[in-house]
Amino acid sequence: MESYKTLEKIFRKLNDINQASSSLQWDMAVTMPSGGAEARTAQIATLSSIHHAILSDEGVGDLLAQAKSNENKLNEWQKANLYEMGKTYNHSAAVPRKLVHELTKEGLNCEMVWRKAREANDFSMLKPNLEKVVKLVREKASIKAEAFEMTPYDALLDEYDRGRKSAQIDDIFDNLKGFLPDFIKAVVEKQASQPKIMELKGPFPIDQQKQLANKILESIGFNFKNGRLDESHHPFCGGYPGDVRITTRYDEENFLTAIMGVQHEAGHAMYEAGLPQKWRGQPVGDAHGMSIHESQSRLLEMQVCRSEEFMKFAAPLYKDAFGGKGRAWSADNLYRINTKVQPSLIRVDADEVTYSAHILMRYYMEKYLISGDMEVADIPDAWSQGMEKFLGIKPENDKDGCMQDIHWMDGTFGYFPTYTLGAIYAAQIFHTAKSADPAIINKISKGDFNPLMKWLGTNIHEQGSLYSADGLVEKATGKSLDVEIYKDHLKARYLGE
Ligand SMILES: [Zn+2]
Repeated sequence: MESYKTLEKIFRKLNDINQASSSLQWDMAVTMPSGGAEARTAQIATLSSIHHAILSDEGVGDLLAQAKSNENKLNEWQKANLYEMGKTYNHSAAVPRKLVHELTKEGLNCEMVWRKAREANDFSMLKPNLEKVVKLVREKASIKAEAFEMTPYDALLDEYDRGRKSAQIDDIFDNLKGFLPDFIKAVVEKQASQPKIMELKGPFPIDQQKQLANKILESIGFNFKNGRLDESHHPFCGGYPGDVRITTRYDEENFLTAIMGVQHEAGHAMYEAGLPQKWRGQPVGDAHGMSIHESQSRLLEMQVCRSEEFMKFAAPLYKDAFGGKGRAWSADNLYRINTKVQPSLIRVDADEVTYSAHILMRYYMEKYLISGDMEVADIPDAWSQGMEKFLGIKPENDKDGCMQDIHWMDGTFGYFPTYTLGAIYAAQIFHTAKSADPAIINKISKGDFNPLMKWLGTNIHEQGSLYSADGLVEKATGKSLDVEIYKDHLKARYLGE
């Protein structure tokens, strides 16, 4: 018990370091003048090496072993906490410090070159840097694979979504691969046969957009005493329980971009804010991996805020905010704008249906890149073929094709699938919540999110990292992850089936 208690103290300290780093990163993205970049990068790197030094101290490994041998004295939460501590330690201890440094350095270089190469639409400019990154990631993955006795790609998945295996993703994504291309065609055809959508005409003043965003956050239950909404180039959710920071970006011509960004990040924020109070600062009190985190943002953004019920509440708010007139501002027309399906080149602008097709394509590619079945030089061609196969369109250049995402540039492999896994979890969780409490959906049409947040709080947020992702969803919904529920949701919403 004593060794376990010592570990709790050490991990609380590590948590403080992570939180301080998160605040520095938020500041960097939101308020810092560009002149501060060099010093800030150094500060974050120093915090990361202090974190690593504390964790890689031999003592932690011994304490973990001692605590593990006395595990029967621990309760359920303490055991899960110990398991999470072990995971963090293993990921850190497995990889030589030199390799971690090199990967960080090459990742930053590649990211810098990528920004220029993307601007110049020149893949050959990026290629040598990306090759270095992929080489180092393969090296890291194979070291971890050996230490954890799993495949190299699974070792990368484990960094973002603990316990996730590509065999499970293959099953789910192969199923979607057989479903999505034809489904997308059917939806596009159906929507083309319907009366034309009425476009909303801007400009939409940014101040009004901000007021509207705040109103929506208030209805969702976002607590401004424990969080903020700001502006950044790419929307994100940072901070930590007690001080959650979300951002969005504003476009004068299209206010829906900002509002959907807010709805998505609010889902992440409500999860962070609702994590178990008693376990704050401990690994078991943290949010679960990225697929569960993403399930909470997608649940709010896609399941709830693109529903007909939400539009009944939101349409008058939108109309008032911008002095909108006529049928273009009706709940029905707004719903149709929000659920318009159109294959397009850029992932971050994709609609609910085609988004998953973008992810599937990236998943198969990155798996082949890590296994060595594909090389960096093959990416542009593979991208074109993938787009054609999954979405029926082809990019005319690499800028709007294989150079659009930042993920691979800084060495982030194994992250993409969490977006679609999150969407599938979200469908299943919301499906259960609605049948558990029919008031949830009725109240949403009146702008009352309390019943939904109460259900999510009890069944998801307050569980922290007590269970595995699949264990958590099984406990909350009474069944294991089921992609058919996600497909049924899409069929019902987009084909009326
Ligand atoms: Zn997200």
